[in-house]
Amino acid sequence: MTKILIIGAGPAGTAAALKAADAGWETTLIEKDKLGGTCLQRGCIPTKALLEEAHTLRNARAKFGEISVDEASLFERKDKLVGELTASLAQQIQAKKITVFIGEATFTDDHTVEVNDQSITADTILIATGSQNRVFDFPGNAKLWTSDEALCTPLRGSKRILLIGGGVIGIELAAYYHDIGHNVTIFEKESRILPNVPKDLVQSLSMDYKKDGIRIVTSVTITSIVHDEHYTVVQNGQSEDFDVVVLCAGRIPSTSSLNLDQAGIVHEKGLILVDADYRTNIPHIYAVGDASCRIQLAHVASRQAILVMDHLIKGSACQPFLIPSAIYTPIQAAWLGKSEDELKLQGIAYHAYRQPLGALAKSKIKGDGRRYISVNLDDQDRLLGASLYLSDASEFLPFFTFLMEHGIPFTQASDIVYPHPTLSEAIGELAASIRLKKHTSL
Ligand SMILES: Cc1cc2nc3c(=O)[nH]c(=O)nc-3n(C[C@H](O)[C@H](O)[C@H](O)COP(=O)(O)OP(=O)(O)OC[C@H]3O[C@@H](n4cnc5c(N)ncnc54)[C@H](O)[C@@H]3O)c2cc1C
Repeated sequence: MTKILIIGAGPAGTAAALKAADAGWETTLIEKDKLGGTCLQRGCIPTKALLEEAHTLRNARAKFGEISVDEASLFERKDKLVGELTASLAQQIQAKKITVFIGEATFTDDHTVEVNDQSITADTILIATGSQNRVFDFPGNAKLWTSDEALCTPLRGSKRILLIGGGVIGIELAAYYHDIGHNVTIFEKESRILPNVPKDLVQSLSMDYKKDGIRIVTSVTITSIVHDEHYTVVQNGQSEDFDVVVLCAGRIPSTSSLNLDQAGIVHEKGLILVDADYRTNIPHIYAVGDASCRIQLAHVASRQAILVMDHLIKGSACQPFLIPSAIYTPIQAAWLGKSEDELKLQGIAYHAYRQPLGALAKSKIKGDGRRYISVNLDDQDRLLGASLYLSDASEFLPFFTFLMEHGIPFTQASDIVYPHPTLSEAIGELAASIRLKKHTSL
């Protein structure tokens, strides 16, 4: 029986382990913390559970006036939900007879890993150890929170919150804190927030944050943070006090505990280097997810794991795949493929179309305001990219991904019937209007 050893039980490690066990492989999974990894324990799921509650509160306030909330109860629900999902994952793993070790894995050679003073060998090893918060100190004495502390510490009363870093994590935490009733500021050192997000979405999101009273300050250089009664932060010569400061300065690969050099695995500052089949320089060692990929998303990690297992079991080459992305703000920003900026930069011809949702019945029912779907199409109407700014935009992405993956002209989206009233009707309206424009311009 083929033996595989998987290190790390996040979305990548668990997806790989379940697939290996289904193939009848003798599967061992090592996890130093809890099953589910960053995604389930301190990432996607806790943030989205809290955001869901915060958005409900926001909508209720907008319709029915001020409502007070005990933040601790929101955290209790979040913890319960995480506990249930962890237990259900553990059950699946147990049912597939996967051997699990709870402890930190360290390579002793390229076929052997040590965990809890025990040596384990395997024919094939998959590294899926994920990532951790990038932490550093500013001049001063302050010890700052990261998203890990923010996601397990409910606050009492309205606080002045500073988020350092305007990436996706900082932006989502800002939405949570604001909707729960705190006063929120974001300091970003670059000239814009969300550097890898299409510009139209960033503009819409920034405008809505401004309207809400979330302060976004860009091109910030922080020179000191002193913590006594408050956090006193000095940036660009100005001093300001905050009650809580969360450092959201990106994430680094979590590989330092592995002793990669002992196995001769090549890495760049901890990021494991892999080929198109996710194989490291050591032929029987593979690496997937945040440990080896700069795009840090749970669905990317698990897809890579599934591709690697197919490669190992069936010998198939790992194919590149489209990556849908979303920010889970009250009005979600979601995107796929190439933005207009990228298309221009790469000299790719495209046609851009936008469908505002203002006149749509469901949008009015939801009280959504200025929302839209925009698409970039090639000459045959095939999708090159899409941006969506509307409630639950992330739920619509698979439709666009399907069309794009299969090269189906976007205009064919007007051939189907959309349930009424739904936001999805905007997709059909956009497709129909493009068809009409093209037809009348012939
Ligand atoms: C606040 C936050 C919100 C996020 N929201 C989203 C979102 O909405 N959608 C999305 O797609 N992504 C989101 N992400 C990113 C997502 O969580 C990661 O991309 C994903 O978890 C990566 O999966 P992974 O399996 O590669 O690693 P991880 O999930 O990080 O799992 C790796 C596991 O390996 C373990 N490990 C590390 N070293 C060792 C060792 N030496 N021995 C044994 N075990 C070890 C760790 O304890 C961990 O459990 C979010 C991240 C954060 C921090």
